[in-house]
Amino acid sequence: ERQKNDRIYYDINRQAGRYFYDNLVQGRNLAQDYLIKRGLTVKAIKSFGLGYALDGWDYLLNYLIKKGYTKEDIEKSGLIVKSKQKDSYYDRFRKRIMFPIFDVRGNVIAFGGRVLDDALPKYLNSPETKYFNKSEILYGLHIARKNAINGQGILVEGYMDVIALHQQGLKNTVATLGTSLTQGHAVTLKKYFNEIVICFDGDSAGIKATLRSIEILQNVHIDIKVLTLPNNMDPDDFIKKKGKDAFEKKIKEALNFIDYKIYIAQQKYSSKSLEDQIKLGKAVANILKDIKSPIEQETYLKNIEEKIGISKDAIIAEMYGRKVSMN
Ligand code: ATP
Ligand code: MN
Ligand code: MN
Ligand code: MN
Repeated sequence: ERQKNDRIYYDINRQAGRYFYDNLVQGRNLAQDYLIKRGLTVKAIKSFGLGYALDGWDYLLNYLIKKGYTKEDIEKSGLIVKSKQKDSYYDRFRKRIMFPIFDVRGNVIAFGGRVLDDALPKYLNSPETKYFNKSEILYGLHIARKNAINGQGILVEGYMDVIALHQQGLKNTVATLGTSLTQGHAVTLKKYFNEIVICFDGDSAGIKATLRSIEILQNVHIDIKVLTLPNNMDPDDFIKKKGKDAFEKKIKEALNFIDYKIYIAQQKYSSKSLEDQIKLGKAVANILKDIKSPIEQETYLKNIEEKIGISKDAIIAEMYGRKVSMN
């Protein structure tokens, strides 16, 4: 019985993906224009199985009924919603670009749907089910897991970031689905990669998420690098505007996480005021305190002394004195 339910869930989601895909590629339509305008290749659209949910309340529902599925099973698959007033169902995704979400084995287990304009919410996801757990799934992993580059994986924020990078040959890219990185994600990443290059959006939310993700990835002992983007650019914007070579150069120049944290502290406390200088000193002490290797720590201390002009001794005293915080 359980196996039967599993099969039905996967089948419905796969069939829906097929249906959305056919909507997209049969004849010209708004969704096609949108994806082309955003620079997606036909090949990328195909390999990620992108699709289009038409503008109507029951297109998918009727399609799946015709295929022989029951409303109850379709509801369990997350694709239709039961109306609160009436005893009827309607399509969850309407007039949206559809991104099938795959598990590591390549089964479609959910969808993300994007509006074609500035309407809200910009993205809508399938509800969580026993097959689709947002805090475990990484978008693109079913491809990326076989495409580590020298053990390296790239971690981005969004669907379009993943597709844009894959399409340029960086098939080692995965994304969380609008949630912050969890321990579960980290354990999964460790399974397939030795090193993660975090490449979140260059806005303040992206910086915050980067700092949080560093802490989580540290727990699983994976090497961490951080690629910084100009403010208000995400990986998709960047690679489209500057090209693959520029992006690869950015990967080569990615900072190790200690350097990244120092860099962020420097930006945060950037004025020459005494207050900022003190805060920067304390923040740096707090960052360097976590370095286990004495040699590494010593190297950083020397470097800080030269670059920021705070004496090694003062930082050491601060480190082993009272506990300080970044805020
Ligand atoms: P686009 O380039 O299509 O505008 P994006 O990926 O740059 O989208 P962000 O605002 O940076 O969009 O969000 C990053 C990711 O977070 C999205 O790709 C999506 O997975 C998720 N996300 C964003 N907004 C929502 C939302 N309202 N509900 C659920 N998930 C969301
Ligand atoms: Mn973002
Ligand atoms: Mn974007
Ligand atoms: Mn973005």
